[in-house]
Amino acid sequence: MKLPALDYVRPQSLAEAIACLRAAGGTAKLLSGGQSLMPTLAFRLANPSLLVDLGGVPGLDRIEQGPTGELVVGARVRWVDLERSALVASAHPLTAAALEHVAHYPIRNRGTVGGSLAHADPAAEWPGLCVACDALIDVLGPDGLSQIRAADFLLGPLSTVLADDQIITAIHLPQWPVARRWAFQEFARRRGDFALAGVYVFHDLDADARMTDVHVAVIGACHRAHRLCDVEQMLEGERASTALFDAAATQAAAQVDPPNDIHGSAAYRRGLVRTLLARALAQASARAH
Ligand SMILES: Cc1cc2nc3c(=O)[nH]c(=O)nc-3n(C[C@H](O)[C@H](O)[C@H](O)COP(=O)(O)OP(=O)(O)OC[C@H]3O[C@@H](n4cnc5c(N)ncnc54)[C@H](O)[C@@H]3O)c2cc1C
Repeated sequence: MKLPALDYVRPQSLAEAIACLRAAGGTAKLLSGGQSLMPTLAFRLANPSLLVDLGGVPGLDRIEQGPTGELVVGARVRWVDLERSALVASAHPLTAAALEHVAHYPIRNRGTVGGSLAHADPAAEWPGLCVACDALIDVLGPDGLSQIRAADFLLGPLSTVLADDQIITAIHLPQWPVARRWAFQEFARRRGDFALAGVYVFHDLDADARMTDVHVAVIGACHRAHRLCDVEQMLEGERASTALFDAAATQAAAQVDPPNDIHGSAAYRRGLVRTLLARALAQASARAH
């Protein structure tokens, strides 16, 4: 289907972009890579009067290390930019591993991290990674800049706390300790498709080989990416063992609330969470440094 009739502007600054959004009074949509927005328009799932193209706004494509060692990723950084970044590969290996699974090359060549977060697909890898890592999201609006925790940013399927006149400008992933143990596991019918379920796991080890700062997050098998706090508590302070990992995986499967749709039943997705988490925990704990 063709796009509906609409106006198009290409502002040259963030201030100009926000002014355009405000002037449209909630009837404008930001355009970043267009990979989710264009199909949405074509299927008439959104009907904005104006597209505000972020392509002309400078300063949104940085990938750099911040003052506290965090990884700072500008909102218009594309999947291929992350994939090619030596800094991401060395400073944040979980990001590099997870984002290999995002979509197919033509989409990876245009899709951006800001668009993915704002689109808030429950099965998307990047929002899940941001939640798993406790990322902070820079959001600019008429009242200035605010920082929002990823877990507070996502409300549900295709729903976030962003106001109509706010723009994501960057994402901060906290510093990643070199010795951290981590794993990402997902299942999709074909590589590059959205995951039916996926899990993020990472933790550190204390001098007594006990797991500390355990993070477990799930995508696809819930209405939004989220951390499994009960599972994290089960693992915190414990030594790795197959029995513990099986118990944690069973707990995770009981805790998620998966959708029942044409791609997979809720029961199937629950089973996936159990299998993927057991695998991820074993993989993380076996990771050598
Ligand atoms: C066939 C197909 C397969 C895909 N598979 C996967 C997959 O496996 N995993 C995955 O994670 N994704 C997948 N995607 C989605 C893809 O990664 C998209 O690129 C991404 O979700 C949106 O990024 P975008 O830059 O294209 O955003 P756009 O399509 O331009 O925008 C998406 C939404 O975000 C808003 N927006 C954009 N930028 C900002 C900003 N800076 N601030 C505030 N709001 C903003 C827009 O107004 C719009 O509502 C797939 C897409 C397709 C078409």
